Amino acid sequence: MREFARSFYNSPAWKSCRMAYAKSRRGLCERCLERGIVRPGVIVHHLVHVTPENVGDPDVVLNWGNLQLVCRDCHAELHSGRGDRRYTIDEFGRVDVIGPPIAKGS
Ligand SMILES: [Zn+2]
Ligand SMILES: [Zn+2]
Repeated sequence: MREFARSFYNSPAWKSCRMAYAKSRRGLCERCLERGIVRPGVIVHHLVHVTPENVGDPDVVLNWGNLQLVCRDCHAELHSGRGDRRYTIDEFGRVDVIGPPIAKGS
């Protein structure tokens, strides 16, 4: 884990946010569920990745709209591919993907 994120991931604010979010999703992987697969989610992923610039911004790092509960396989998929997908958030908190999406499957 990169240094700037360490204190965030260890913070009580994140721990309670993560637990409450996972509970709200009934502990199931959201991506698998979309495909009709019921599987426990184990990782709360940030759609907008945590960076040194946004790690102090609760609207990003503690925003449920920026979170996704996923299983390990889905999480690996989310972070695989040629480089990370890049995102921006507009003033209404909507997430925009910059650049071409990663091709799905093969
Ligand atoms: Zn999954
Ligand atoms: Zn992630």
